[in-house]
Amino acid sequence: MEICWNLTHCCPFSCKICMVNPINVSDDNKLAVQSKLQKSGMCLTFDDKTRILKDIASNFDKIKIDFAGGDPLLFKENLEIIEMASNYFGPENIEVSTTGYCIEEGMLDSLVGRISKLDFTLDTVFPKMESARGDRYSQININAIKLSIKKGMPVTVSTVLKKDNMNKENLKEISEFLIANKVSNWFLLRFRPLGRGVNHKSLEPSEEEYKKALDYCFSLKQKDGPKIGIHHTFYELMGIMSRNESCKVGSKLTILSDGTVISCCWAFNDRGRPLNDMFVLGKLPETKFREILNSKKLEEIKKIPACRVDYFVNKRDVMSH
Ligand code: SF4
Ligand code: SF4
Repeated sequence: MEICWNLTHCCPFSCKICMVNPINVSDDNKLAVQSKLQKSGMCLTFDDKTRILKDIASNFDKIKIDFAGGDPLLFKENLEIIEMASNYFGPENIEVSTTGYCIEEGMLDSLVGRISKLDFTLDTVFPKMESARGDRYSQININAIKLSIKKGMPVTVSTVLKKDNMNKENLKEISEFLIANKVSNWFLLRFRPLGRGVNHKSLEPSEEEYKKALDYCFSLKQKDGPKIGIHHTFYELMGIMSRNESCKVGSKLTILSDGTVISCCWAFNDRGRPLNDMFVLGKLPETKFREILNSKKLEEIKKIPACRVDYFVNKRDVMSH
């Protein structure tokens, strides 16, 4: 069991393909926006987050948590939550998925040794090609990746493969950047028309295009280069195991910024809310974590032998498989 926890609904970027549809903030308004979201119940308060952590810790001595957002590092209170989680579960079990926006030496000093790694997204090293995320995004992340490595922070770089970035020139440049900067892990992700991506279906590659891009990325692998990981929905395409066998539903629970817990980290609609009630397991801290773990809905969704998200994206009838 793993947890992905979206610690905030605020982000300094406005990616067109974002799954969680956060509110765009600047340094000037982020505290006011966060406070408004907390008052309206759209974001957990610091006290709620502390209660949830204690609740999780009462169920597990060790559990892997990936803190994400929005951008979780926008707020000092989230650093305190990350530190508490590190004390509960050990730095080796804590990861942070972030943008490079808040990464500077002081931030890294407070994170090195407290977490196992930072995960940045880099879809291109050519800012002009960054149509889905805005032209500052890749440069800010490139600078943050370099600084993080320099400060001794392990880094994973994730690339979302989509029609606008999976040409050989771009993939080769990303690979060379990772090798040159000694990034240890490169994780290749699938684009799916979920979250805001619902409105950008034309970016979705065919299975054949994905296969070609993945084969090409593996052909770039070098002995001292990053280890290449692929999203579980690529396992079938790469002949590793069937989509049904690779499904991780229920094994990585996602806590949304308002405390809602869903069983699949991809099950988002265009408003960044759960794709369907079948994925919703409860709402923390009101629901106890133990109740979520023992819920009938979790048991039921695990029984469906196919990708549950496909049912909504491709209208595949997973129930009758
Ligand atoms: S994809 Fe990430 S960086 Fe982009 S808007 Fe969403 S949370 Fe922010
Ligand atoms: S339901 Fe689909 S997207 Fe979700 S974990 Fe299973 S295979 Fe992955």
